Amino acid sequence: MSRSDDQGSRSRGSEHDAGSLAGASLPPDFGDRLLAWYRENGRDLPWRRTHDPYAILVSELMLQQTRVETVLDRYGRFLERFPDFETLAAGDVDEGLAEWSGLGYYRRARSLHALARAVVEQHGGNLPEDIDSLRALPGIGPYTAAAVASLCFGLPELAIDGNIARALCRLAAVEEDPKKSSVQRHLRELASEQLAAHPAGDFNQALMELGARVCLPRSPRCKDCPVPDMCAARCLGIETRIPPTRRQPILEVREEALIVERDGRYFMVRGQRPGVLQDMWELPTLDSRLEHGSLNEYLCRQDWPFERGELLGEIQHGITDRRITCFIYRGRALAESPEFTVRESSEDAPQGSTRGTNRDGTPGEPAGPGAGIEAGWFTVGEIAALPLAASAQKAFARVVGVDLTRR
Ligand code: SF4
Repeated sequence: MSRSDDQGSRSRGSEHDAGSLAGASLPPDFGDRLLAWYRENGRDLPWRRTHDPYAILVSELMLQQTRVETVLDRYGRFLERFPDFETLAAGDVDEGLAEWSGLGYYRRARSLHALARAVVEQHGGNLPEDIDSLRALPGIGPYTAAAVASLCFGLPELAIDGNIARALCRLAAVEEDPKKSSVQRHLRELASEQLAAHPAGDFNQALMELGARVCLPRSPRCKDCPVPDMCAARCLGIETRIPPTRRQPILEVREEALIVERDGRYFMVRGQRPGVLQDMWELPTLDSRLEHGSLNEYLCRQDWPFERGELLGEIQHGITDRRITCFIYRGRALAESPEFTVRESSEDAPQGSTRGTNRDGTPGEPAGPGAGIEAGWFTVGEIAALPLAASAQKAFARVVGVDLTRR
């Protein structure tokens, strides 16, 4: 493994020959020491108490890009509702999305549903126990396949997430981007002997724990580390510059959302924005990245018969590289609007329009021109059961005083 030498001002450690350390394998007693520390200090998390491959897979998918505390809040309830692949495969994808609300990255919920169907149809409801078959399943990438293979079936696969990559890169003083395939290959070689010599699932969990709680991104807590004398970066004094940082500019985004209430029902829409919010129900929202003009112009373009009333409040939220300020206005009806009570996909509606369904089951008037947008009137209880964007949860809490995060 070559290291980049273009670091500008170099720390005292760079004067040493870190390149020779970077190519070395981990010391023979590394795994014993790491695992002893893990058994003593590892967190007692519900997915570490089970051997059920389905439950472990669910936890792995939930934990991607999501904090452990947030997952703890949802994991048990999701498993209660969907205890196995068969139940999930037979379930309604919207219900699965609703149970996923609050975890973000809802495409994972959709892909878990597709995965459950594939496991039932192709493997009789049981995950296959080899890495190639795992990787052939929809929604399973290299990390998830390695995690499931090692945690569930004891296969010697290194599950390289951000925590493991950072810890191993520091242990071996690898100063390159851990996302590069050449670096990942090197990390696998580095860990291969240790993985073969120890329970692979425990080894991965212990390395993840080290990265998550001790070998922290900005300020590694080396004094609490079980293996500081085995860490090349620590010995060279270069641990804080590994991995190299690529600062993503944070984008400030302004949104304006409308709360329209009539007879105890609120007007909600789905599909007005692409990407992570595509499948989630939201308030009608003008997103400054996607739409120009005023909120009233946006509502008019969508053919939603409302206009902006007084400002009710504002909320802050974030999605990946965006910091969003959303101003919430009361919506006033322009005219008697149709009585949307049942949502209906616009696939059945005329091209370029969105329809709800009237109380008597007849199609409502078009609710907007955006193909793929659904719209409807819902009570608070019905909204709580929808796959709901986090911004809508915050808006209801802030403006209506209703907590929709607990159902
Ligand atoms: S010594 Fe410090 S940098 Fe090295 S693995 Fe331990 S916590 Fe990370």
